[in-house]
Amino acid sequence: METRPEKASILLIYTGGTIGMIENAETGSLEPFDFCHLEEHVPELKDLGYTVSACPFDPPVDSSDMGPEGWKKIVELIAGHYHGYDGFVVLHGTDTMAYTASALSFMLENLGKPVVLTGSQLPIGVLRTDGKENLITAIEIAAASEGGRPLVPEVCIFFENSLMRGNRTRKVNADNFNAFSSYNYPLLAYAGVHIRYDLSQVYRPALPKPLRPHYEMDRHIALLKLFPGMSMQVVRSVLETPGLKGLVLETFGSGNAPRDEALLSLLKAATDRGLVVVNITQCLGGCVEMQRYETGKRLLEAGVISGYDSTTESAVAKLMFLFGQGMSAAEVKDYMNCSLIGEVTIPAQ
Ligand code: ASP
Repeated sequence: METRPEKASILLIYTGGTIGMIENAETGSLEPFDFCHLEEHVPELKDLGYTVSACPFDPPVDSSDMGPEGWKKIVELIAGHYHGYDGFVVLHGTDTMAYTASALSFMLENLGKPVVLTGSQLPIGVLRTDGKENLITAIEIAAASEGGRPLVPEVCIFFENSLMRGNRTRKVNADNFNAFSSYNYPLLAYAGVHIRYDLSQVYRPALPKPLRPHYEMDRHIALLKLFPGMSMQVVRSVLETPGLKGLVLETFGSGNAPRDEALLSLLKAATDRGLVVVNITQCLGGCVEMQRYETGKRLLEAGVISGYDSTTESAVAKLMFLFGQGMSAAEVKDYMNCSLIGEVTIPAQ
């Protein structure tokens, strides 16, 4: 298997975040380094033997400031250079990387090349950095091919040792090098001494089609996390937000909510008005099953739809994407009920 083609060319898009920082020797403060001189900071890149071009955001963006504008810029860069490169590595702050990966997976329709997001917990310019390993392995994965075909032609996150489907991933630790997990979908690859791919888990469209980039995301989406004793005033003010089109409702366990009549009638009134309310569990792993308990069934009766085993990040990005395509509430509900790019597991009926 030819997984390390010598001549592969990779476009490295640096958006911002810790990975691209070095310590200023005089002041001791962290500042972004010049990606045009990438090989000075990561001389190991020469040994990989690939052509790596860098394209940094100017100025770099902390991932807390990432959103539809930044996602659009990444999509424009990938679409604009799509035919010139074998794969793409996006360096990104870790804090909202799971949202960006989810959004890109929807915005890059018919993707046929790897888009690997990575970052680090420690800046690339400090001694114990995890950034170099993450960067070098992400580039290897983006370049990996077999018989001229990329091994992982989907949007994914590589972190520490794991390659995960981007729209299945969550940031789960603020300190550990092992900061991301994919609870509801198996790893696409594990990087130990060798990079072991599980190709049976990689998304591959039946018929390759030309890339179809999308740029519009609708911001009229909200996220509401239930907790015991929540005030109905808060629920009402979220549900009655002017212009709101979609809501991700984070519920308990397998999709349960209090059987509070006030809550249920607020939800029913909102779904009757056309708001799309998607039920996502607050648990890290597992699936929403609203039929399982009375407390879930009441949500179904109130017009809430299941988000199955989707992550919150992916459900938010999917709603933004679907409404961004100008779809009606009924169309959005239909698409929430199916997997577009492997983001949910829909149980067989
Ligand atoms: N605040 C940074 C960011 O998300 C942290 C990081 O890069 O990991 O941009």
